[in-house]
Amino acid sequence: MRWFYVRARARQPLITGDRVSGSGNLLLSVPWIGGESMRGALAGALLARGMREDDPWFQEAIVQERLSIGRLYPMLEDAGNVEPDRDMALAMPATVLVCKRDASHGLFSGNRRGTCPKCGGKLKTAEGAVVQGKDRPLAVKPKTYLRTGSAVDSMRESVSEGNLYSRQVLAEGSRFGGFVRLPRSLDPARLTAVDDLRVGTAKRSGFGRVSLTWEPLPHGPFSDNPLAKRLPEQPDAQGRYHVALHLQTPLVLTDPLLNPRFDLAVDDLRVHGPDLHWGIEGYARRTELLGGWATLINRPKLHRPALAAGTVIPLSIRGARKAVRAALQSIEDHGLGEGFGAGHGLVLVNPPLSFPHAKEATPS
Ligand SMILES: [Zn+2]
Repeated sequence: MRWFYVRARARQPLITGDRVSGSGNLLLSVPWIGGESMRGALAGALLARGMREDDPWFQEAIVQERLSIGRLYPMLEDAGNVEPDRDMALAMPATVLVCKRDASHGLFSGNRRGTCPKCGGKLKTAEGAVVQGKDRPLAVKPKTYLRTGSAVDSMRESVSEGNLYSRQVLAEGSRFGGFVRLPRSLDPARLTAVDDLRVGTAKRSGFGRVSLTWEPLPHGPFSDNPLAKRLPEQPDAQGRYHVALHLQTPLVLTDPLLNPRFDLAVDDLRVHGPDLHWGIEGYARRTELLGGWATLINRPKLHRPALAAGTVIPLSIRGARKAVRAALQSIEDHGLGEGFGAGHGLVLVNPPLSFPHAKEATPS
């Protein structure tokens, strides 16, 4: 497998997906670019550049979904005064906490009964995306603004006051980044030649243009920090390695009747390492509803619930270190659950982020 980190800069405002707001006349945007809409946009760009639909590259990468594009998360602005150590945006782990009083007090790990080390205030779960800053991880959100428009009442062919609406859009200049995987059998130059795309909706009304840069990652998701370094050197006294799976994109699991499932099972893991003893130690879990627009067929997609990006699943694995590493490498390379080609089930093992601990609150 060949990995890239793709960076996208918005040259126009973006509308990447809808989120429900409290007010009926306000439409919110999701703060990322979905892998599936990126893949659809890429397909369109390749065809526009003269690639034929029956080209074997197109068939394998796009139609058979062997090209996998994870979610593109917002990145720090260049103008920021804190230089990132690692310019790679990751899903905010569901285990991370932020001060309720002042989010600038930092990002912490621990449990929610702990308190902010800066002010002693209460903590809440952090959301969004995270980038490793020079000395600490930093929360990132894209810049947004509201566009106001009026919906035309087609019966009266007029605009009525109640039809005024506001649309949150992601600002031009915003940067996003995400992991992309391409099989070794496919020429990467055909992918990296695409440096300009239109993503999201309202592409005909001055929205959605992004420019792309592709960074090849020779050793998988973190080239300077390959999996061997992210795995503990020694097992515990029982011979178990403790690691945490961090979902970078939603995890879609179904039972034999195709109903959604929200618990990862040992069987989901055993395919990657049949001879190892897998233990699922618990969850820091969120769920989300997947939906959006299928660009290739130009139709809305069916909504389905999934384990959300940011979910953290701690595991214990008993076996030889080499075998444990190979199994975890297989999980990073092939993903978990369904729809890896559509960008679902992208998992990173122990991403290199270190959060200071929240203060333990004294029990009263
Ligand atoms: Zn605080």
